[in-house]
Amino acid sequence: MADQDQKLCPELRPKLSVNIGRRRVITGMGTLAAASWLPHSIRAQSIMPEAEILIIGGGIAGASTAFHLAQQGRNVTLLERGEIASEASGQNMGGLGGSGWGNMPGLQSYLTMGSVEIFKQLQNDMGYDMEFRLSGSLTAIHTEEQYEFIQDRVLSLRSNGYDGELLTPSEARAIEPELNLNLLGYMYTPRRGQADPVKSTRAFAHAAENAGASINTGQNVIAITVRGNGGYSIQTDTAEYNCQTLVLATGAWCGPVGQMLGLNIPIVPIRGQMWATESLPPRIFHSISSASSSYAWSQDNGSDDSTPPNLTHKGDLRITRHLYGRQRKNGEIIFGGARQDLGYNKNPDPVGIKINRGHASEVVPLVADLPIARTWAGLMPFSLDGSPIIGKIPLRDKLYIVSGLSSSGFGRGPMAGKLGADYIHTGHMPHVLGESDPARCITEAE
Ligand SMILES: Cc1cc2nc3c(=O)[nH]c(=O)nc-3n(C[C@H](O)[C@H](O)[C@H](O)COP(=O)(O)OP(=O)(O)OC[C@H]3O[C@@H](n4cnc5c(N)ncnc54)[C@H](O)[C@@H]3O)c2cc1C
Repeated sequence: MADQDQKLCPELRPKLSVNIGRRRVITGMGTLAAASWLPHSIRAQSIMPEAEILIIGGGIAGASTAFHLAQQGRNVTLLERGEIASEASGQNMGGLGGSGWGNMPGLQSYLTMGSVEIFKQLQNDMGYDMEFRLSGSLTAIHTEEQYEFIQDRVLSLRSNGYDGELLTPSEARAIEPELNLNLLGYMYTPRRGQADPVKSTRAFAHAAENAGASINTGQNVIAITVRGNGGYSIQTDTAEYNCQTLVLATGAWCGPVGQMLGLNIPIVPIRGQMWATESLPPRIFHSISSASSSYAWSQDNGSDDSTPPNLTHKGDLRITRHLYGRQRKNGEIIFGGARQDLGYNKNPDPVGIKINRGHASEVVPLVADLPIARTWAGLMPFSLDGSPIIGKIPLRDKLYIVSGLSSSGFGRGPMAGKLGADYIHTGHMPHVLGESDPARCITEAE
């Protein structure tokens, strides 16, 4: 079991003064109150010792990058403006994994299957309780068109060495008893899994801290300066940090943080929203989804110069329904699915939640009668071309990014962080990151 003592555990740390090993960062309301009478220029004067590598962003991408770099013995500091997992990495559905490594693994296989291996490492070898399990997933088929589409997909997956099976409703219900028998069938993906988003992301940050990284929460980065003698100076509300190498892992906020460096990073915030029932005894065992959206996006993915592919809406207009869900270990049944470009609006929309609940009820009729206990929304980092952006940004010296993980960054973030860390540590690009090269899309801001 890893040393999960209260002093180090991010959620259990005292707010006022956070002991972070070699460094001490003052954070929380008490600090704000004590410092609020000072002019801003004086308040922002605490200058921290220089870090070799500084990561901005305490989601799964940043926390995993920090963990893997610290494991390699590198001097790492992570800055997060809220708490660890306070944005998408703590708000997602918790679905993981893909369809296997395949005969010729590409980036997608590395990110999904590699992440599953890292989840196993943290939970099984290091003793973190992340509620991780390889549950498998079932995708509901509602129409003849979707049936043909999924049939082709299963054939293609299998001929390329991946796993996937087409089940009759009766076969599916034999392994997931609450499924609707009256649909056309279900696709079974045995290698998919699930984990708790907050516990998992905090486990990565904790493991990073145990390996020697400094994890500094409550540090909102407001300015970044390229230093004349190399490296970067990073200004937060309360302190100044300096580093040689800078890593951007700011998820849906890569755009504004890129602007601080004079760069245009084509990542847009896409709102996803979810709802939960009260806790129930175990009723749902797999992750559940629907083929409605993947079929619709196979016909037209809706992308254009300023719109990423595979959204549920174009402007205000709904293009497709989208569904994913599972039952959490605490008994809540959770579902969600919308992907809408609404800027930085994180308020859940009751109309969308109602549509999603109707969709979920078609697949798992049980939920039609269960009241909604709570709803929430978060912002996913969608790159404009739909592919991850992981690697070196050649327009600046020693600048890296681990982002663009879109709607599946929880299941791909751990390996994205490891690949990013390997790149930084060795100075050589892991060959699979050719597909995610930032040089393809990051430009000087105009
Ligand atoms: C409702 C919903 C459901 C989802 N379901 C799934 C799922 O089932 N499976 C899956 O794989 N993925 C899912 N996702 C997507 C997944 O959550 C994201 O792709 C992933 O969490 C992105 O991780 P990240 O670390 O890049 O970004 P984030 O988790 O958003 O982390 C970025 C961090 O950077 C910090 N930051 C930003 N700007 C600054 C600044 N100026 N200074 C300091 N810190 C800053 C933010 O506070 C934030 O904590 C879902 C997302 C949502 C919203």
